Amino acid sequence: MESFDPAELPELLKLYYRRLFPYSQYYRWLNYGGVVKNYFQHREFSFTLKDDIYIRYQSFNNQSDLEKEMQKMNPYKIDIGAVYSHRPSQHNTVKLGAFQAQEKELVFDIDMTDYDDVRRCCSSADICSKCWTLMTMAIHIIDRALKEDFGFKHRLWVYSGRRGVHCWVCDESVRKLSSAVRSGIVEYLSLVKGGQDVRKKVHLNEKIHPFVRKSINIIKKYFEEYALVDQDILENKESWDKILALVPEAPIHEDLQKNFQKSHSSLQRWEYLKRVASTNQNIKNDKCGPWLEWEIMLQYCFPRLDINVSKGINHLLKSPFSVHPKTGRISVPIDLQKVDQFDPFTVPTISSICHELDVIFTSEKEKEETEAESDVKHRTKDYKKTSLAPYVKVFEQFLENLDKSRKGELLKKSDLLKAF
Ligand SMILES: [Zn+2]
Repeated sequence: MESFDPAELPELLKLYYRRLFPYSQYYRWLNYGGVVKNYFQHREFSFTLKDDIYIRYQSFNNQSDLEKEMQKMNPYKIDIGAVYSHRPSQHNTVKLGAFQAQEKELVFDIDMTDYDDVRRCCSSADICSKCWTLMTMAIHIIDRALKEDFGFKHRLWVYSGRRGVHCWVCDESVRKLSSAVRSGIVEYLSLVKGGQDVRKKVHLNEKIHPFVRKSINIIKKYFEEYALVDQDILENKESWDKILALVPEAPIHEDLQKNFQKSHSSLQRWEYLKRVASTNQNIKNDKCGPWLEWEIMLQYCFPRLDINVSKGINHLLKSPFSVHPKTGRISVPIDLQKVDQFDPFTVPTISSICHELDVIFTSEKEKEETEAESDVKHRTKDYKKTSLAPYVKVFEQFLENLDKSRKGELLKKSDLLKAF
């Protein structure tokens, strides 16, 4: 893997935006078949430039306008905002209050830093293969619910480029949802509650909701290897005390503490906890039995969503195929068929794909020649020569499905018309 030198970023970005960025697919996505007039033109983009200069309310007329501006501005980071009532670039010319965010994809932001109290391998911005399983579980749990419980068809999952994942739900009806409905959906998907000062963050009712039960079934597939082996969450007194703090009943608490001292591994200790809990199911006012076991599993593994990102229609979120300015990694779409195989450390960096293009070290003269011949045709195919290609393919598959749905809707409408 190529190492990434942030000092090289401006030059690398120039090359990336000139020859590698998948503009036509990107435009095809945000234009949504051109069904709604000015849908793309009214979309807000925001750019973060060198030295953290942040520019909001960018908007573009068409694909070639977008290409030109991106190559001119060379943004370190691109965010996507809402579709507004007017062109965002002209928001100052509109009467006060008339400029309104009208539609946006329903988005989710899951960030590893929100798990710092339950992962033992890394903290803050760091991630490793041991804690990445948290993101794997999060994708499975949230995506299943979006698909099966809500019936949303078009879900694009994207690696953020550093320590988390984003999801863009793009169904036509979803893009029109109000903030209130979005809040309701995130509320449904949130089980871990309370900030740093709250110890026990998951409380299950006696009647377990099917969503919770299905989520637990997903966690069960990973729990032993992730929590008991890799994270070793019951390794020593310091680590198991954090879990015993979630056990309410004094007698059970003491029993566990005694046994844990004698046991030799997290696996053994967890087996004992399950046994003790299930034999104490009838203790008054206590939710032992599977509830205790499940509450601990959920607290340690259930996805932690950034609620505010999902609620607001006008909230900005980092764009797919934007570059992470610190790691140099591209925000690539994640193949839902291969979530378990996704490895953030093999995601291409901007320097690796630029080197793959094999032009970085060419002489200045050759560079000029390349620039001169950089017509659209040539450019749009260049990413295929690099390891970015499979990720663009995942994106294209997602776009195909959007197209199919749109055509299906049109057919339905024309059949209805014929029926009359
Ligand atoms: Zn880690």
